[in-house]
Amino acid sequence: MSTTDQLPQQVVAAIAAVVGTGPVALHEPSFRGNEWLYLKESLDSTFVSSVGKFVDRFEAELATYTGAKYAVAVVNGAAALHIALKLAGVTAGDEVLIPALTFVATANAVSYCGATPHFVDSSEATLGIDAAKLRDYLTFHSEQRGGYCMNRATGRVIRALVPVHTFGHPVDLDGVMAVAEEFNLVVVEDAAESLGSYYRGQHTGTFGLLGTLSFNGNKTITTGGGGAILTNHPQLARQAKHLTTTAKLPHRWEYRHDEIGYNYRMPNLNAALGCAQLEQLPDLLAAKRELFKRYQTTFELVQGVTLMAEPAQCLSNYWLQTLLLDDEQAELHDQVLVATNDAGYMTRPSWKLMHELAPFMDCPCMELTMAQSLSQRLINIPSSVNVVSAV
Ligand SMILES: *Cc1c(COP(=O)(O)O)cnc(C)c1O
Repeated sequence: MSTTDQLPQQVVAAIAAVVGTGPVALHEPSFRGNEWLYLKESLDSTFVSSVGKFVDRFEAELATYTGAKYAVAVVNGAAALHIALKLAGVTAGDEVLIPALTFVATANAVSYCGATPHFVDSSEATLGIDAAKLRDYLTFHSEQRGGYCMNRATGRVIRALVPVHTFGHPVDLDGVMAVAEEFNLVVVEDAAESLGSYYRGQHTGTFGLLGTLSFNGNKTITTGGGGAILTNHPQLARQAKHLTTTAKLPHRWEYRHDEIGYNYRMPNLNAALGCAQLEQLPDLLAAKRELFKRYQTTFELVQGVTLMAEPAQCLSNYWLQTLLLDDEQAELHDQVLVATNDAGYMTRPSWKLMHELAPFMDCPCMELTMAQSLSQRLINIPSSVNVVSAV
């Protein structure tokens, strides 16, 4: 047998050496702190919905943790993106640059604003937006008119740029922010996957005008379902809170709403879970890093695959551990998925690229060579902290 034939079984063995015998899930939440205590406290208080001390506390603690001046807690990451894009000035008829390699929520949120997603290629080093390629593309395909970036082909305004910190790995923020400045694009960071990830010592989600987080059940910490909007601007924070609480004007009994708002506020019950989870975040991050190190040891010996490591100058939360097959091994992608899942280790390929999905097939996009290559070579492997004994 050539080494090629052995690769799927070698991957199974390398995973087994780290996580033990299966079945092992891709990513499970871990509840080992004050979850029950705080949930009970929330129930006992009768404040389970949009008002309560846990939701205020969760927001304050998120702001402290990330270094953002303000955090506004909402029902999920997609809702956070929707409102952040609205506050960034995205309106119907605009285009918004997002990576083709992302979860569908990024593209959906652009559509919720009546705007069109415009897909950008990724870099192999970060899995996120390739800033150099984007600059070349915009230089050729856009022009500045009245302070706006116009798409020459469609005549629409390209309003914003949404970098995604894929699987927790920070994008090249220096490069991306420079391109945004050069072409007059507002930056909204989709940091749904990167709570606990830092670029040059600064928390992801705090570089753009606004940033968003997700606390879905499969993310680094969970509130069941949940999300947050981060910003340093008091006016934007106020508007975010207003829009996500049905745009109701404060009054003791009157129900007056001054614009079309959304019922997007995170319930206190979910925030209770969030407060308990946030207390454990440093331990969870340490366990995720430990898991990465253990995989690094076993995958060092496997030819033909690379375990994704944090980019230079970055501290990654290692949300989902990621294997990249070498180009020459790309044809074994499905065989590796079959062998690992058959052995009880849940693995999965990257999301289908956005421009391949029915609702987004006709959206504008640049040449997506690297995103396509990554989607043919990428495999996420079991990443729960539960498999590391430290937690
Ligand atoms: C999880 C996720 C979201 C959305 O979060 P939900 O809370 O599930 O709505 C958005 N973008 C990315 C990249 C995500 O991974």
